[in-house]
Parts: sequence; C-alpha cells; structure tokens
Amino acid sequence: MAQDFLSFIDRIKAERPDEFVSVPGEIDPAHTITATVVKTEQEAKKRPVFVFENVKGTDFKVMTNLHASRPRLGMAMGVGPREMQKKFLAAMENPIPPKEVNTGPCKDVIIKGADVDMRALPQIVHHGDDGGPYITAAISFAKDPETGIYNCAYNRLMITGKDTTSIHLTLGKHLWEFHKMAEAKGEALPVAFAIGVHPAIALGALSIGSVDEDETHIMGGLFEEPLEMVRCETIDLSVPAHAELIIEAEILPGATVDEGPFGEFTGYSLGAREREVVKVKAITHRKGAYFYDMNVGHLDHMLLSTIPMEANLFRAVRSMIPSVKAVRVPSPFTCYVSIEQRLKGQAKNAIMAVLGADLYIKRVVVVDQDVDIYDERQVNWALATRCQPDRDMVLISNARGSDLDPSTAGDDGFTAKWGMDATAKPLLSEFTPRHRFPKDVWDGVDVKSILS
Ligand code: MN
Repeated sequence: MAQDFLSFIDRIKAERPDEFVSVPGEIDPAHTITATVVKTEQEAKKRPVFVFENVKGTDFKVMTNLHASRPRLGMAMGVGPREMQKKFLAAMENPIPPKEVNTGPCKDVIIKGADVDMRALPQIVHHGDDGGPYITAAISFAKDPETGIYNCAYNRLMITGKDTTSIHLTLGKHLWEFHKMAEAKGEALPVAFAIGVHPAIALGALSIGSVDEDETHIMGGLFEEPLEMVRCETIDLSVPAHAELIIEAEILPGATVDEGPFGEFTGYSLGAREREVVKVKAITHRKGAYFYDMNVGHLDHMLLSTIPMEANLFRAVRSMIPSVKAVRVPSPFTCYVSIEQRLKGQAKNAIMAVLGADLYIKRVVVVDQDVDIYDERQVNWALATRCQPDRDMVLISNARGSDLDPSTAGDDGFTAKWGMDATAKPLLSEFTPRHRFPKDVWDGVDVKSILS
C-alpha cells in the first residue's frame, strides 16, 4: 500500500469526489478553519476533506477533516467500515517492524538551527478561548530511554516562539513516562513530530497498549508491510519517510511554560496550566507540503481515536470473557460492552478488564448479547430493567483518569470510576422473558399487503 499522504488524498479525489472541497480564497487561520468545518457539518450535514489554499501569514496550504468519515478510514485500512476494529486488532497481534530507507519526500526541504521559524507555519487558532495558535496533528515519535522501544502519540503543541512550543503530555502515559526518566538524569528527551501522514500511520499512533508495544510496528501491521522510516537530521530518531512535514526537537528537562486553555475532545475549553517546553532543532518537509490540522474535539478527531481505543478494549475484555460480542466507546470516558454471559459474575469481570486497560475510561456499562450497544435506547432499557444499582454498581475511588476531565478540576485526573452490570440476573436464560409473538403468527403477518 502506498504510504504517503498525497496518494491517499488522490484516491479520495478519484473515488469519492464529493468528499473533497478546495477553498481558494484567503482565509484567516484564527478560528475560521475550525468554524468552517464544524458549521458545514451542522448545517449541510457534510464532512468533506477541506483544503484551504490560501492561509493568511503562511506559504503552507492547510488540509483538515480527512478522518471525519468511517468509510474513508476504512479505505485507509483496506477494509469496510464495519471491519475496522477487527483489522486494527489484527495489526496489534501481527505487528511488523519498520524498514529504514535512505531518504524520502519529507527531506525535500531541510531547515535547521537559526533558520527554524515556527511562525512560518500556519498559526491556527481553533476555538474562541484557546490560549494561542496550536499544532493539533503532530504525531510524536520518541524512544524509551531504557529499552529504545518507540512510542507514538498525538500531543497538542502550542506555538510559543520562533523555535519553541509547549507540549501537553498526558499525565501517566508513555511519553510523559519517558520525559520523567530523561528528566531524572537531567537530560532532554529527543522527540520528532510528523504532520500530514497516511491515516494508517495516524491510527497506529493512537494504539493503546503496553509500553513495550511499539506503535511503529502496529503501523506496519496496518499497512501489511514495514513502515518506511528515515533518519532525522539533528536527533537520534527515525520518522516516516513519506510524511508531509517533520519537526525535530527535544523536550527540555525542568522547564515549564503557561499553556492553554484549549478546546479539547471533552467538549470543553480547559487545561490551562504549566506544561513542558519543546525546543525545535529542525523542520524538514516535502516541497509544497500540506500542513495537516486536526479538527480537535470534532469528528476528525473523535472517529480516528475511538477505533484504536475500542480494539484495545475488545482485546482486554476478550482475555477475560471469550464470549464478548462487542465493545463501543460512544462518548468521552465511556464504554459499553455486550457479552454472552455464560457464568454468573462475568459482567463484573468485564468492568474490571475495561477499567484496567485504559486510562481514560471512567464509566462502563455491561449488557447481554440481545442488547445492541449501538442503540442508546436499548442500553438505557437494559439499565432500567435489568439492573439494581445498589447490587450491580462497582465504584472505585481515587484512581487515575484523564487530566482533561473538567469534573476533576484541580486534581489533574485524580478521579472515581464506576461500572454498571446491566445484564439480566442471575443469567439471561433464567430472567423474565421479553414479550414476543408466536413465530407462525409473526411470519404470517404480511405488512405489504395490509398497507397496500
Ligand atoms: Mn506506547
């Protein structure tokens, strides 16, 4: 599969021409890009890929909203929208190590040292209360200082100077851990950021797993061939050779700067506090590169991130309950699970598996296999009719969750978590039967002839 960004965009132009919109007129990067995408979705019910050809203050064209469609993400994984979770799990279970290549399009233009100017990049401000211009589609590549195993993640970067940004490291996650290890030795942590990548790379970066699971190998699993990586110019790291743009940098030890607030995936503008400092050493890019902007907190962001999250949670539940039917993350911090419960207590085990496998998940609802977890009415019906909260609720106090959960404000993600066993007790087969019709009567009703 072609690993570059542009050939994927060309496929969309050829196969789904209605889903590509070019905006030729000059546009202000402060708020207008994000507002255009969100209002198009709300008013016209459309979610095209947008290219803003002429963005004030920069030579780069800005592309956004690529991931806001499940069929487009399926295309990137070579499967239909319903097979994405299965394909992602297969990539996690069959990771392929990357291949080092000598050069790539991301080396067309190399800017180093004093020539670096972050202000030449699009200065995109997303929402009204944001603390400044943000880079939202920067995928970090960094190595575990002890094992050398890569970690990849999305980290929001606020542009703070000619060669500096702040970085939001989610407390307790892998890149935060690497930074703490380097900082303890008084060292900077080398980190590179790729911006503008094939969606398979974007999805792989969002894989949630153990710290020894290398996301670059999962990217290879998604491509079904090794990810082609090329050496950085100024730091000891490799990056995807076919990325549109690379930022080479390091996270400084013992330094912080005011960051945020920022309109996030939770739907709130939040998170203003002291964050770590990134010092940029080089920018390399394809000649004529598109600058990708993630439309954070909207579908471009939410659809992309839930596929890897659901795959990991399915894997975690399946390790405890082989008869798990489906796992869904319908909204921030929430997980629905349906299982075919063969033994009493399996629903509680499912709750523990989910809460143990993901930092962000705060609320779990487990239902029987006859409940469609893609239908909120059915989940609510099960909660109302199969559940006694004093018997079926699990409550865990003082756990670690997302530092971007506004209900833990002041406590940086120090949070309670809860699960509700909404399965029928003791087992579905022994529970009050649902209303139903004799099969011969049901089959005998001819709706078409009655309505004609
Ligand atoms: Mn990791």
